[in-house]
Amino acid sequence: MEEKKTCDSCGDNSCSAKNQNKDESPEEYADRRKLQATLCRIKHKIIVLSGKGGVGKSTVAVNLATALALNGLSVGLLDVDIHGPSVPTMLGLENEHLQGNPGGLLPVEFGGLKVMSLGFLLQNPDDAVIWRGPMKMSVIKQFLTDVQWGDLDYLVVDVPPGTGDEPLSICQLIQPLDGAVIVTTPQKVAAVDVRKSISFCRRLDVPVLGVVENMSGFVCPKCGGVTQILPEGGGKKIASDMNVPFLGAIPMDPAVSRSGDSGKVFVYHESKTPTAIIMQKIIDQIIDSDKTKKLNS
Ligand code: ADP
Repeated sequence: MEEKKTCDSCGDNSCSAKNQNKDESPEEYADRRKLQATLCRIKHKIIVLSGKGGVGKSTVAVNLATALALNGLSVGLLDVDIHGPSVPTMLGLENEHLQGNPGGLLPVEFGGLKVMSLGFLLQNPDDAVIWRGPMKMSVIKQFLTDVQWGDLDYLVVDVPPGTGDEPLSICQLIQPLDGAVIVTTPQKVAAVDVRKSISFCRRLDVPVLGVVENMSGFVCPKCGGVTQILPEGGGKKIASDMNVPFLGAIPMDPAVSRSGDSGKVFVYHESKTPTAIIMQKIIDQIIDSDKTKKLNS
């Protein structure tokens, strides 16, 4: 039989699925080719990471994906934050459930975005996901391999916090990654974790697109003045210490939280506010960064 040269979609001679690895069984190779056939149709893949939960990682992922879609790009948003899938709520899609056809699973289409979340698997949003590691891995893999993403300019992935098994598998499965955006809050306890996230990316050869410091100061809804609640500048200092780009500081703004809870994406619905303008500048830097700007390459 003629040797396969690439995965089933790209025809690119440099495709990583071109050859079977020595330590790989035919079944494993077939799986990898199938995964690569999906990934080769996606031009840019960005993951959003954080050292801790609750720092605004999903908020950044949702606003980034939406801003890309508003620029007329075809965008997928994959939420694999297994224990806290908040993307459905942030997009007002809590009542959506997983749909499929013989070709695979169908992402939920939302204003130019294709969305897939573990939240769509839950019968009730209050259900807790109690899965052992292999089960989580197999669902993550299925969301990459069996979802009909089609041709995308960008896939933005909201990854579980920390540097454990799940972020590791995502970085190993999605090859090549354009890079990671790391979200943190300003205080020292979060800083320690963000250093770990940067080291994690370095160990795995994932470019760090930059650090975002979220909840940096509080914007008073009455007067618009900013009060520093948490100590300032932790994210910026780490970015400088570890020689990665600092993308900016987003204040703690009640309007961000209101938007998230009501399923109205902040950069779109509150686009004229000072906080949305800061967020948009951060997103522009991510889009313009060296790794992702060659959109049509
Ligand atoms: P993570 O994904 O890191 O767990 P989320 O993005 O889910 O964090 O954010 C946690 C909560 O904080 C959400 O209710 C979200 O709306 C809120 N939030 C995030 N960023 C801000 C901000 N800058 N100002 C106010 N609330 C925010």
